[in-house]
Amino acid sequence: MKKVGIIRCQQTEDICPGTADFKAALKGRFAFEKTGPVEIVGFVSCGGCPGKRAVPRAQMMIGRGAEIIVLASCLARGNPIDYPCPHFQKIREAIRKNISPEIEIIEYTH
Ligand code: SF4
Repeated sequence: MKKVGIIRCQQTEDICPGTADFKAALKGRFAFEKTGPVEIVGFVSCGGCPGKRAVPRAQMMIGRGAEIIVLASCLARGNPIDYPCPHFQKIREAIRKNISPEIEIIEYTH
């Protein structure tokens, strides 16, 4: 079973506890169709706007065994209020540049 670390939008914490993310990971659905069910080694926020703290948080989860970093749907898709993160591309690029190329990044959860 692959190990994943999920990063979610801090601004969305008040309206979403990540229920659908956990369900998708547990059942191997949506973003996890390819991997099948995954083990979540960490579920953290980006650390707040503009999201720079997402980089050390991704590194921390990799240190705890994450083989895939997953950016939850609240970032790219703006779930559940249709309000995508304006810093999404920068966050994704900064994480990509600062983690091993062997670590996959998935850009949504469900
Ligand atoms: S940087 Fe993006 S993901 Fe992080 S709190 Fe702000 S809007 Fe949400």
